Amino acid sequence: MSGAEAPTPDVARDPSTLPVEDVVRALGSDPDAGLAAVEAAARLDRDGPNRLEAERPVPAWRRLLSQFADPLVYLLLAAAAVSLVAWAVEGAEGVPYDVVVILVVVFANAALGFIQERRSAQAVAALQRMAAANAAVVRDGGLARISAFDVVVGDLLVLAEGDAVPADARLVDGALWCAEAPLTGESAPVAKSPEALSEPAEVGDRACMVFAGTAVTRGAGRAVVTATAMETEMGEVARLLGATESDPTPLEREIARLGRVLGLAVLAIAAVVVATVMLTRDVSTLTDAVDVLLLGVALAVAAVPEGLPAIMSVVLALGVQRMARRNAIVKDLASVETLGSASVICSDKTGTLTQNRMAITSLVTADWAGPPSEATRIAREAVAFGALASDATVAADGGFEGDPTEVAFLAAERRLEAEALRSGFDRVDAVAFSSERRRMSVLAAHPERADLLAVKGAPDVVLARCTRVRTESGDVALTGARLTDLEASIDALAGDGMRTLAVAIREAPASSAREEHEADLTLLGVVGLADPPRDEARAAVAEAQAAGIRVVMITGDHPRTATAIAAQLGIVPPGASALTGARLTAMDDAALASAVREVSVFARVAPEHKLRIVDALQAHREVVAMTGDGVNDAPALRSADIGVAMGRGGTEVAREAANMILTDDDFATIVEAVREGRGILDNITRFLRFLIASNLGEVLAVFLGVVLAAWLGLRDGSGAVVAPLLATQILWINLLTDLGPALAVSAEPYADDLMSRRPRRPGTAILGPRTWVWMAVTGAAMAAVTLLTFDLFLPGGLVEGSADLDTARTAAFTVLVIANLTVAFAARSETTSTLHRLFTNPWLWSAVALSLALQVAVVHLPVLNDAFSTAPLDLAQWGTCVAMALAVPVSIEGLKAVLRSRDARVVRP
Ligand code: ATP
Repeated sequence: MSGAEAPTPDVARDPSTLPVEDVVRALGSDPDAGLAAVEAAARLDRDGPNRLEAERPVPAWRRLLSQFADPLVYLLLAAAAVSLVAWAVEGAEGVPYDVVVILVVVFANAALGFIQERRSAQAVAALQRMAAANAAVVRDGGLARISAFDVVVGDLLVLAEGDAVPADARLVDGALWCAEAPLTGESAPVAKSPEALSEPAEVGDRACMVFAGTAVTRGAGRAVVTATAMETEMGEVARLLGATESDPTPLEREIARLGRVLGLAVLAIAAVVVATVMLTRDVSTLTDAVDVLLLGVALAVAAVPEGLPAIMSVVLALGVQRMARRNAIVKDLASVETLGSASVICSDKTGTLTQNRMAITSLVTADWAGPPSEATRIAREAVAFGALASDATVAADGGFEGDPTEVAFLAAERRLEAEALRSGFDRVDAVAFSSERRRMSVLAAHPERADLLAVKGAPDVVLARCTRVRTESGDVALTGARLTDLEASIDALAGDGMRTLAVAIREAPASSAREEHEADLTLLGVVGLADPPRDEARAAVAEAQAAGIRVVMITGDHPRTATAIAAQLGIVPPGASALTGARLTAMDDAALASAVREVSVFARVAPEHKLRIVDALQAHREVVAMTGDGVNDAPALRSADIGVAMGRGGTEVAREAANMILTDDDFATIVEAVREGRGILDNITRFLRFLIASNLGEVLAVFLGVVLAAWLGLRDGSGAVVAPLLATQILWINLLTDLGPALAVSAEPYADDLMSRRPRRPGTAILGPRTWVWMAVTGAAMAAVTLLTFDLFLPGGLVEGSADLDTARTAAFTVLVIANLTVAFAARSETTSTLHRLFTNPWLWSAVALSLALQVAVVHLPVLNDAFSTAPLDLAQWGTCVAMALAVPVSIEGLKAVLRSRDARVVRP
């Protein structure tokens, strides 16, 4: 098995007609020991990861180049070219600063976009690895759990119920059923066995093969991997379908639309500005003409938030990384948006809302009831035969392993020293527990006694199959008062929030544990198991409810157990009733749709009911998060807006169907993830508010400056209209604002009221009318102070000044920059005072400090004076600039106060 040799052609094409041994040999594997780890590593190296990839990864240089593929960049480059030509035609004197500045801006923006894109791509890739299914394989003779990405040809897979099949493989032993709908469309599970086919068959009929992308619904077996990644049948389908670009999310679509609208508006404004300047000014030289054109281009560049999509995906990627650290792995960035709008969380009870640390705390028999410590012989028998009818086992360290409900039986049996009551019985056959059957049966043989069928399960199911009951005076018929007494005791246990199970036996039935023998049973007793709620669940339920999110409990348990626990958790008031699976089955869709508005506890529910519950809730336009762990939960997980799989207790199939995986199986983590989702959306809104308001400020300053030039006296010595900002200055401001908040916003702590707002309705615009008013007022304030400063410094106009044009323009430019920086703080909230939690974000302060330092450099360094046509300001002039700029945050405070008082008058529903 040395060297990674490619498999022989026959095996690679269709191994289903060859004998198993030949297949294993041809693949260089071993039917017992599997592959050697070194060999597996060599093959992984040779074949690459086991992952479907319709598209080839794009090389870095192409991704860098694609940053330039943008109409605005073309516009800028064209402007640079024109200005270079003008400079050459007019004698090529000095440095063509405009060209240099434009090129610096273009390259800086490209580099920024490239870095941001890479950062978010890396975050997504890391998440995909975390979310990837696991696979159990035999390597070097031992069982290993590895990522499905690392499965290679020749690996010996160990498959069991609930596993996702990671690659195409030939069954070596065992028998199992696979759901192959994703591959073949066949909805019923297909039986699989190791025997070779007598002749080649279609994929759907290859009964000795299991295929990547399908799931094991029942049974177990081992299989040797024949193809991985794009070589699998699923890979073939993916290749045929071609590169599937993922659809843009609603938020991405909205942002793209916003960009387009702003772009068009700005083109119109730029045209007016260019025309006005051209008409009022004596444009005699080529340089003059180019200057005016450049101004138009710069204006367009300034107003369109071109960096937005890149920054947005970084914010999302950082958010999902944060969620992953808090035990919630979100599989795609789009789910973050959906999480933020969740309005209903449907949660399993056991293990998610409760601790899943079951312990038997009460026992009931026909003539006794009490705690285990005082158990009668019959009660001890009930525990012992319940332990017999289970799959839990004793671990190497003496503890128990298995389903917590079953472990509770073994633990109680040991505590009560009841093992002897079933000694000598050996399991012959079993039908395992399932949520559909709600019971488990084991047929056991005894060397001296008759064979015995032990059944444990939900009391209603088991009692319905009992005809007799064991009493201190022997076995008697289970009828009349005895039955009603027992049912009352069971109800009482359930009413205390306990999970209840009945245990019954039957002597000497037939030779199997099949269903038809689960009749005529003798009831031994009923046990009550305590499974207390998780400590953090109650607070999480309250937090969700305060956030306008309804919590719904869905459980296979008894209705009274369910409502008791739900009441303890605050999901329903004490005394509320539950809707059972049986009643749910009897309802049509319309009846269910009206029931789901009222009911918050569903009990005795089977997995297929979950799908109907999701659909009914979605009919009310609710955004539904639904938890699940089993194979049968997969349809509901897919159909829910946010499918949530249990990372610990759940099956691989559920993981694959879900949008989010909880690595701690904890309900509180879902609520935490919703909080993160809302926080991320909030930060994106903050960021948009800032960026659009500040762009608006720049555009309005130039537009109004040109339009109102006469009134404000914005003219040069010859009386021609002068633009308040030059092209290079606009580009400079744009670069500064794109750099600062991009870093800062992702680190902004979330608002205090995040979880006291109502959920965002899906489809509502992220920027509402009020936000537009906010941005318009802020932009107008910025433009006003900029223009007033310009007027203040220049002779004539509203206020008489005495500075020269360059100084006046430098002052206006500086005011706009400082005002911009203050808006970065103000835009954190529409209504809360800017002073609130002013110092919580060190990133924002650093970005602002850096921007200010750069602005000082632009005003005072001679080389930058030349590049940006600025003139140094003295201390008094700086003071004036700062004072003028601060008028902006002050007016925003006023606006916020107005909005707050309006809010106070509107009573929120
Ligand atoms: P959820 O996890 O959805 O909150 P659940 O896990 O409590 O629900 P099920 O596991 O479907 O629901 O259990 C339903 C009922 O089946 C239980 O109330 C119990 O009476 C019975 N039951 C549970 N586990 C076993 C088992 N291992 N063997 C026999 N019966 C069981």
